[in-house]
Amino acid sequence: MADLFDLEHLWHPYTSMTQPLPAFKVKRAYGSTIELENGHKLVDGMSSWWCTIHGYNHPELNQAVQDQLQDMAHVMFGGLTHNPAIELGKLLLNITPPGLDKIFYADSGSVAVEVALKMAVQYWSAQGQLKKTNFVTPRSGYHGDTWNAMSVCDPVTGMHQIFGSSLPNRFFVPAPQTAFDEKWNPQDIAELEQTLVQHHTCIAALILEPIVQGAGGMRFYHPEYLRQAKLLCEKYQILLIFDEIATGFGRTGKLFAWEYAGVEPDIMCIGKALTGGYMTLSATLTSKAIAEKISQGEAGVFMHGPTFMANPLACAVALKSTQLLLAQDWQANIRRIEQQLKQYLPALSQLEYVEDVRILGAIGVVELTVPVNMQILQQEFVRRGIWVRPFGRLVYVMPPYIITCNELDYLLQQLVEVVQQLQELQHETA
Ligand SMILES: *Cc1c(COP(=O)(O)O)cnc(C)c1O
Repeated sequence: MADLFDLEHLWHPYTSMTQPLPAFKVKRAYGSTIELENGHKLVDGMSSWWCTIHGYNHPELNQAVQDQLQDMAHVMFGGLTHNPAIELGKLLLNITPPGLDKIFYADSGSVAVEVALKMAVQYWSAQGQLKKTNFVTPRSGYHGDTWNAMSVCDPVTGMHQIFGSSLPNRFFVPAPQTAFDEKWNPQDIAELEQTLVQHHTCIAALILEPIVQGAGGMRFYHPEYLRQAKLLCEKYQILLIFDEIATGFGRTGKLFAWEYAGVEPDIMCIGKALTGGYMTLSATLTSKAIAEKISQGEAGVFMHGPTFMANPLACAVALKSTQLLLAQDWQANIRRIEQQLKQYLPALSQLEYVEDVRILGAIGVVELTVPVNMQILQQEFVRRGIWVRPFGRLVYVMPPYIITCNELDYLLQQLVEVVQQLQELQHETA
C-alpha cells in the first residue's frame, strides 16, 4: 500500500525519515468515506484533523471553488480587495463574539496564532508599555508548530527541550483541572493569579484554547475557568486570546466554545474547519479598540502581511462552508453524534487500561493508561475499514458532521472492538 517515493522522500507530520510508518495511499474521498488506492474504503473518524465538517468532495463546496476559479484564483491583498474576503468577513463578524470587529486573514492556524501574539505585543508597545512582551498559558495546550506558536504549546508534549534556548521562555500555569461537568474548584485558577501578580508587567496576553484543549491532551475543562481568567486579565491588564482553531464551527456543540462561558476574548484565532477542509485559511479577529491602539503606535500599522492573505479561492469556499453549516440544524446534528458516542464509548472505561472516556459535542476521547502502538493500531483500524489516528495515550474520534447513523455505528463498533482487543493485538504483533 505504501508508495516508495513517498517513503523515501516525503516528510509526513511527526514522522521519522529513517523509520517512517507507511502512509496509506488515498485515491479519492467523498462524504465520510476515504477510499484507498486498492479500493478499500474507510469510514472517516478524524475529519482530517477537525477540518472536513461537511465531508469530502461536497458538491456545493466544489461548486464554490469552481465558480471562484472563473473569476480569479488569487490576487494580492495589498492594495486590492474582493468579494470573497468581504462577504466572508461580514459573515464571520455575525457569528463570532460581538466585541470583535477587525479580521486579519492568514494562511494557517499557526500563523493566526503568530498574528495574535504579535497583535498583543504591538497593542502594549503602542502605549509605551515596552516590557509587556511575554505570554502566559496553561499547560497541555496546543497552538501550532511555528516558533512562537510552539513556545506556548505544552512544554513537555511540545518537546521544548529539543529547541533549548532558541525557544522563548513563556509562563506556564497548570492545565485547568476541573472537568467540564464537575463542580468548579476555585483552586483551579489560583496559580494563574499568582503568576499574574508577580509577572503581569512583562506579560502581554494569556492565550488558551477555550473549553477543549486539543492536540495537547484532548481535555475538556470547566467554563468557569474562562470567566475567572477573564476577570484576572482585566484586573492585571493582560489581553485574553482564545485559540478556537480546533473548537470552532460547531464541534463542541456550540458554534464557538467561548459561548459555554459567555466571556469574550480580546483576540480570537480560527482556522481548520473554516474552509470545510478544502484549503488552508485562518483568521485572527480583534476588537476595534485594540486595532485602533495598534494603528496609533509608532509603526502606525500592524506589522504582518502574508503573500496569500485572503486568498479568494479559500475565502469563497470558507464562505460557502460556513453558510452550509448555518443553514442547517447543526446543533441537533451534533447532539445526534454526541448521543451515539455516548452509546458506545463509556463502556470502555471498565477496561483496566482505560483511564478515562470523555465526550463533548462531536468529539469522543478514550484515554488509555499507556501509549498505544500507533503502527499496529493504525493497521488494524484500516483493516477493519475505519480511519482513526491515535496519538500517545489517546484514541479519539471527531467525525464529519454529515456522517450517517449507520456509518457512525460502524465506526464506533470497530473502534470499541479494537480497544477491547488492544492487549492481544499489541502483544501478537510485537
Ligand atoms: C491545529 C491547531 C493549530 C495550528 O493550526 P495549523 O493550521 O496546523 O497551523 C493551532 N491551534 C489549535 C488549537 C489547533 O488545533
